[in-house]
Amino acid sequence: MDSALTVNQGVPQPPDINPRARDIIKKKPGKSLAVPVYLEGIRSGDVPLLAQSITLIESTLEEDRKKARELVSACLPLSGNSVRIGITGVPGVGKSTFIEAFGQYIISAGHKLAVLAIDPSSERTKGSILGDKTRMETLANNPRAFIRPSPSGGTLGGVARKTRETIILCEAAGYDTIFIETVGVGQSETAVHSMTDFFLLLMLAGAGDGLQGIKRGIMEMSDLLVINKADGSNIDNARKARALYKGALELFPPPPSGWKPLALCASAIEGTGMKTILEAVEEYMRQVKENGYFQTRRAEQAVYWMRESIDDYLLSRFYDNPRIKGRLSEMERKVREGETDSFSAASELLKHL
Ligand code: GDP
Repeated sequence: MDSALTVNQGVPQPPDINPRARDIIKKKPGKSLAVPVYLEGIRSGDVPLLAQSITLIESTLEEDRKKARELVSACLPLSGNSVRIGITGVPGVGKSTFIEAFGQYIISAGHKLAVLAIDPSSERTKGSILGDKTRMETLANNPRAFIRPSPSGGTLGGVARKTRETIILCEAAGYDTIFIETVGVGQSETAVHSMTDFFLLLMLAGAGDGLQGIKRGIMEMSDLLVINKADGSNIDNARKARALYKGALELFPPPPSGWKPLALCASAIEGTGMKTILEAVEEYMRQVKENGYFQTRRAEQAVYWMRESIDDYLLSRFYDNPRIKGRLSEMERKVREGETDSFSAASELLKHL
């Protein structure tokens, strides 16, 4: 029993993915259905069909992509009527706990909520920081909530394009509030910012900005800072941090929305602060709709996404082309060994496009 080779039993691990989500994803048929079937399913709020439509968006098969484009176009006139909220913060700040608490609160106020994610780590390592364990169990079991993990694979641009299209499908399915979660450490915030109306940054008291890994640019694009874990013996620290951040926000140039970014305290675990946060979002939406910023920003975002979609399409046309795929590594070798130069190799490969 005392042997160094004794293996401790350990703690039971939760499944990789929410079992309900797995059932929904599993129902994907071998062959995809016709576009009108998906469209009708989405319009009538059929969750398995919505999930399958998103799988279509994420597919790399040309046939699926074509259907996905048709479906997104058909859903566009039914979309746009939601509040799109970006939520970010470093791992451990309490994003999933916060989304559970704030999500429940929003649903109890009569809304329907879709939670999407952009997780840059899932591209590189196939592991993900967000969404690979059973998270947000209460929300996942709420019929008024729809949770979809981050698409994986491809470039950040590709992942972001898929999430952007997923927003459109979710809105057409009647979700009037969309959360887009990301990890506050890299490029993905800019992508999330470019597809949301409101940007919420979760922070902790007591850890300096440097320690939290939050870049100044991310704070600057935030409409609301929430100091999470304002509970127990941490309440005073959280209040001090709130005052500090409030001061820091005032030093930034005024944002084009005309909104004055706020700093608030919350405890995701205790569910406190949720009412004030929702009021802030509602007040923001009221103001930007009144001053026209909302409409201008959505229009600018639409143009931005047109360009991103072109880029993403061209990139995948290039890299998914079998002739290019076959020659790419050979060309890389030739460049590495000095047999040819980078520019000649690039134009040689581009000839196949
Ligand atoms: P994420 O990595 O940002 O998604 O963070 P999680 O939601 O997984 O939370 C990380 C840890 O912080 C967990 O142990 C949570 O129980 C804890 N946590 C989250 N929110 C709060 C809070 O409001 N108060 C306290 N005391 N702990 C919290």
